[in-house]
Amino acid sequence: MTTPSPWDINRERMVDEQLIPRGIHDENTLRAMRTVPRHLFVDDAMASCAYGDNPLPIGAGQTISQPYIVALMTQALGLKGDERVLEIGTGSGYQAAVLSRICERVYTVERIDSLLVRARKIFDRLHYHNITSRLDDGTDGWPDEAPFDSILVTAGGPKIPQPLIDQLADPGRLVIPVGDQHVQELQLLEKNSGETRVTTIEQVRFVNLIGAHGWSA
Ligand code: SAH
Repeated sequence: MTTPSPWDINRERMVDEQLIPRGIHDENTLRAMRTVPRHLFVDDAMASCAYGDNPLPIGAGQTISQPYIVALMTQALGLKGDERVLEIGTGSGYQAAVLSRICERVYTVERIDSLLVRARKIFDRLHYHNITSRLDDGTDGWPDEAPFDSILVTAGGPKIPQPLIDQLADPGRLVIPVGDQHVQELQLLEKNSGETRVTTIEQVRFVNLIGAHGWSA
């Protein structure tokens, strides 16, 4: 057994102090949050803050979500291990990395090239080879790879983009922040036997989902 690094200790503390007391109980989610080195997904200058209880800037006006929000969204998908998951908004790549430790394959779409290039380098460095990514407007989904067992949108839009509902498998789960450009409700859409049901999980604040089925800027 190797001695845990200070990063490992901070990560364990993050799970024990920020996630479990707030109701994150899904074993797959907790295991992934204990595994993925979050400090590699932020700039070196901010690495020491990576396990703090808050979002952090990642450049290009975007943010990596607070650990609790990443865990809450992951848990809401109820992943078991054999799923193909679509993520819209790669950003730092951290959320995709967490999903990739639980499901079979992650497809992630980002609209800002510089962020995608950086995220891909970290996926390679960590040998997270079950993540496929592309530069595009994710509000159109990824038609060539549809349907997806789960879809996670990590930017806030005015409504649930119809292409994403169409590309969700049955049964399937989609999680997305919906609201105005300042505050949103984290919504869970469940498709089952041809019916869809939407429930609200919690109030959240995300950066804008910009695209054909999102905000115009
Ligand atoms: N999941 C990310 C969160 C990044 S913030 C992480 O773990 O770090 C949200 C990201 O969504 C931003 O990088 C933003 O550029 C991206 N985004 C916004 N609208 C988008 C769209 N239509 N398609 C793809 N990405 C989008």
